[in-house]
Amino acid sequence: MQPQIVLLKEGTDTSQGKPQLVSNINACQSIVDAVRTTLGPRGMDKLIVDAHGKATISNDGATIMKLLEIIHPAAKTLVDIAKSQDAEVGDGTTSVVLLAGEFLKQVKPFVEEGVHPRVIIKAIRKALQLCMEKINDMAVQIVEQSKEDQRALLEKCAATAMSSKLIHQQKDFFSRIVVDAVLSLDELLPLNMIGIKKVTGGSLEESQLVSGVAFKKTFSYAGFEMAPKSYEKCKIALLNIELELKAERDNAEIRVDNVKEYQKVVDAEWQILYNKLAKIHESGANVVLSKLPIGDVATQYFADRDIFCAGRVPEEDLKRTMKACGGAVMTTANDIKANVLGVCEHFEERQVGGERFNLFQGCPNAKTSTLILRGGAEQFLEETERSLHDAIMIVRRTIKHDSVVAGGGAIEMELSKLLRDYSRTIAGKEQLLIAAIAKGLEIIPRQLCDNAGFDATNILNKLRQKHAQGGQWFGVDITKEDISDNYEQCVWEPSIIKINALTAAAEAACMILSVDETIKSPKAGEAPMAGAGGMGMGRGMGRPM
Ligand code: ADP
Ligand code: MG
Repeated sequence: MQPQIVLLKEGTDTSQGKPQLVSNINACQSIVDAVRTTLGPRGMDKLIVDAHGKATISNDGATIMKLLEIIHPAAKTLVDIAKSQDAEVGDGTTSVVLLAGEFLKQVKPFVEEGVHPRVIIKAIRKALQLCMEKINDMAVQIVEQSKEDQRALLEKCAATAMSSKLIHQQKDFFSRIVVDAVLSLDELLPLNMIGIKKVTGGSLEESQLVSGVAFKKTFSYAGFEMAPKSYEKCKIALLNIELELKAERDNAEIRVDNVKEYQKVVDAEWQILYNKLAKIHESGANVVLSKLPIGDVATQYFADRDIFCAGRVPEEDLKRTMKACGGAVMTTANDIKANVLGVCEHFEERQVGGERFNLFQGCPNAKTSTLILRGGAEQFLEETERSLHDAIMIVRRTIKHDSVVAGGGAIEMELSKLLRDYSRTIAGKEQLLIAAIAKGLEIIPRQLCDNAGFDATNILNKLRQKHAQGGQWFGVDITKEDISDNYEQCVWEPSIIKINALTAAAEAACMILSVDETIKSPKAGEAPMAGAGGMGMGRGMGRPM
């Protein structure tokens, strides 16, 4: 009798081989099914309620994937590629998940039949390489154009990014705003220099772009009503100093034996505060912003001297003001001189909906702008912000890499045709694999049709025919249930989105295919049976009965 060899701790769940691979692919499929319907201009949105009861409505692939709290180890890869796509280019997050899932789905029969995963991976890599060459080849480079042409191009890309979102009705309005916001930045196009503020109420069209910094009026004490609410050419003191009497603090102990001494302590405290205030006043500032609270005495003091003040300004707003207006954030009142003050052309406090806003315009230094969004429900505004984020990212990307391709499935159909043609020139397993990947690419136009309620088979046939005849920019026409030249229709997307999406999707597919064994240690305190491979049909080997 052979002795049993025990390698792993009791309760460790291991599953390996083909069934493991198939189970991982199945798990990915379930994830893809969750986001499938959100793709494209006719895509639906998802309402996700988290454990705390917070509801989020979103169409953004990355957001949905993040909120889904996926625990399956292989399927998590898809979450990661969606996140990386979001960070890298900002749009195309649903597409990347869909493509990865579809590549896996198409090669699944080969896995089941016993083709070695390495062979499949090699084919995917080859297909990817061909696709990259083709995209770079086809992408329309926009060279040396005039300012107006560039603007028009950017607006089109922004509009395409927004056309699949909740705010697609207002996409022309917002694409102008987004392009203005991005163009107001300096060459590096720092994303954090565009502030987005949300004020519920009003209609979307009441949203506005402030060229400069704006933030909600902070909590203020009595006395602020008397402070002036608008200045021309103002000097701004940025502080990280508490301007409040600290008498209420009880973490110090002072022993006094008569009232006079007590009075001295109180006087000293007032004196310290007044000294600070006097120094700030002497510096010539007429707007004082502080990260820490500004108390009632200080508020009154400033109001008496025609100085506007705001305490508890959020750090990011203070930083943005500093970058925009110059100056420095001071932590002591001793060195406040004219040279550490920021300047701006125009300051005012204005009513926006139910909120009061402090607006700084005409800032000399870094270029920055703030979008004040108006609209109904809060979830709606949050989704608007996410959609604008996508559009802003797209515009930034397009400025950096000014080449575009046509969307609406056009580029995917062309790549699919390329791969199919290529597969006919080679022999063996690779031929079938490349053809399978070519089929996988068709998921984008197919899903766009499905989501719009079109007859996908019919439209895909038309598209294949057109592309065979050389109509390389033909894609789905979402308005007419037909196909159209999407380059002429101005459904443009930066080529970098597609390059990134395809690369990430292929990498993810390869990674999932290269895993053939999962070993899961039992969680402390958990029964050994629990926690076995999530959704698929993970076969457990060596499980204690
Ligand atoms: P993602 O998160 O991948 O960006 P979207 O829901 O934004 O997903 O959908 C993007 C897809 O919709 C792209 O393939 C794009 O080409 C397509 N698309 C966008 N606007 C149009 C349009 N007007 N007509 C046809 N397709 C469009
Ligand atoms: Mg998009």
